[in-house]
Amino acid sequence: MSYKSEHERSIKNPDDFWGEQAKLIHWEKPFTRVLNYSNPPFATWFEGGLTNICYNAVDRHLLDRAEQAALIAVSTETNQEKVYSYQELYDEVNCMAAILKAHGIQKGDRVLIYMPMIAQACFAMLACARIGAIHTVVFGGFASHSLASRIDDAKPKMIVTAEAGSRGGKAIPYKPLLDEAISLSQYKPAKVLIVNRGLAAFTPVVGRDLDYALERAQHLHDLVPIEWVDATHPSYILYTSGTTGKPKGVQRDTGGYAVALASTMNHIFCCKPGETMFCTSDIGWVVGHSYIIYAPLLHGMATVLYEGTPLRPDAGIWWSLVEKYKISVMFSAPTAIRVLKKHDPRFLTQYDLSSLHTFFLAGEPLDEPTASWIHGAINKPIVDNYWQTETGWPILAIQRGVEALPSKFGSPGVPSFGYNMKLLDDASGAELGPNQKGVIAIEGPLPPGCMQTIWGDDKRFISTYWETIPGRMIYSTFDWGIKDQDGYFFILGRTDDVINVAGHRLGTREIEESISSHPNVSEVAVVGIEDKLKGQSAIAFVIPRDATNVAQLEAECMKTVDNQLGAIARPSRVYVITALPKTRSGKIVRRSLQAVAEGRDPGDISTMEDQTVLTQIKTVMEQNLVS
Ligand code: AMP
Repeated sequence: MSYKSEHERSIKNPDDFWGEQAKLIHWEKPFTRVLNYSNPPFATWFEGGLTNICYNAVDRHLLDRAEQAALIAVSTETNQEKVYSYQELYDEVNCMAAILKAHGIQKGDRVLIYMPMIAQACFAMLACARIGAIHTVVFGGFASHSLASRIDDAKPKMIVTAEAGSRGGKAIPYKPLLDEAISLSQYKPAKVLIVNRGLAAFTPVVGRDLDYALERAQHLHDLVPIEWVDATHPSYILYTSGTTGKPKGVQRDTGGYAVALASTMNHIFCCKPGETMFCTSDIGWVVGHSYIIYAPLLHGMATVLYEGTPLRPDAGIWWSLVEKYKISVMFSAPTAIRVLKKHDPRFLTQYDLSSLHTFFLAGEPLDEPTASWIHGAINKPIVDNYWQTETGWPILAIQRGVEALPSKFGSPGVPSFGYNMKLLDDASGAELGPNQKGVIAIEGPLPPGCMQTIWGDDKRFISTYWETIPGRMIYSTFDWGIKDQDGYFFILGRTDDVINVAGHRLGTREIEESISSHPNVSEVAVVGIEDKLKGQSAIAFVIPRDATNVAQLEAECMKTVDNQLGAIARPSRVYVITALPKTRSGKIVRRSLQAVAEGRDPGDISTMEDQTVLTQIKTVMEQNLVS
């Protein structure tokens, strides 16, 4: 079987291809139709079928692997380590499901999970799936405003949280951020379930807040029957940034997602049930949803849930886990490798890495020095793969399970099965030839597991993703790319105002909105600039109302972003300036701003005034470098 013929089959005969893949999961009631694309761009997969992703990830394995490790929860923050067998995971998920049910959570209700990387976060996700509730996990690094906008959009009946996370050994209280978010949001969740880790003191809100330990004691031995749901029932909502300040709730189905993930374990990740996978992402991101929680468990593997940095207690920690748990597949992001690269490779090589067969990287462009360093250090295949929150699983990768095509440096590979990829001219919509730069687009239907819609906003789903290329309804990835003569794609950065900091997507508009809330800010522009460690970092240009205290304003802008969105979105620099380059219609010319900030030629500048403005900005930046 060749990659080419299989890929062609997946596009030309999706019913055949995906009907076959669907056998990888359990169907309580068989589907009557593989694909329904009668209402484009909405694709429905496996109509008529009843299934449950928790059943497939947990219950289904009890017969063969009840005693096998399922979840390996390691925290180098609290120095705790616990291995849950499939039986123990089943017990904990049932208990969590019973708690949710006892507090009125039913099929279709939303549950927001705002948690550090602890086992209870995994229990909560799977418990939601068990009872047909829809989880929405919000990254623990987000602060109150980000959280409030997600609460208002998803309207969760319950929030599951912990009183604190921890970073570098320092407790990071979550509870005050959550309380503030709930006071800011219009919608008020009825209940908040708190896992008290004993890291930070807090005051529960009477009548609203529930103590997980007490609830767990009450429901310890409860068993909660599986809620069989339609394949098309939403399994979760995951918010991501775009060009507007309002985050988009990516809505994912159940059956298509389970089938797609299960298929990637054979086609891309090439791992076997019983092996151990360690994905270093966070459950707050899509990679964490798919490859910390769902895919390894669907595939009957053990999965490592890691709370901590790659450097504590030292730069060998991840590799010591490889040795200890005989990890066979790792999945990380280039930024993490660049962090490790600053340390002696001896930290990696002192451990027995013989169990590890492949190291996957995704989330941001993989640069040559990073790829060669990690390859040199561990001497295992390094596999790049490209995808988005919207797709839920890799769009581009070498499909090693079908045909081990050679990898090409700088390319994440070729289209995964079901992805009908096109490279288009952004102005005319015309299809481009080999090695021409264009927008990477996907012809509908999107394969199973990709977003169904934007939660509560079908119109926005269509206008955001399917109507940006002139003359045709086609999904835009908002990435520039080229395709070579062999069909390999190369990613050349975003077409929109989204930036990628350490593999995490941030909308510059959200950061601008946050900074503009400062009373002394009259205008602001945020752009992403190249960063040696994180790929990109955000920098802000601010025009003050009153320019008497520049240093104070810089610090306050950063603090405002910290408090409202979270430290992850904090600009690395804030420059106080007097004017911004603008088009005649008043739009800020970000491209020129970014070029000047990166020390490049800003290209065509429409007016002399803009040239003067950019020269002034350059001077401000240079002065800041000196000071
Ligand atoms: P997110 O939805 O946060 O995962 O961000 C998705 C975006 O990250 C993509 O649209 C790309 O811009 C970028 N990205 C993800 N994986 C890769 C990769 N392997 N190479 C280059 N860019 C990537």
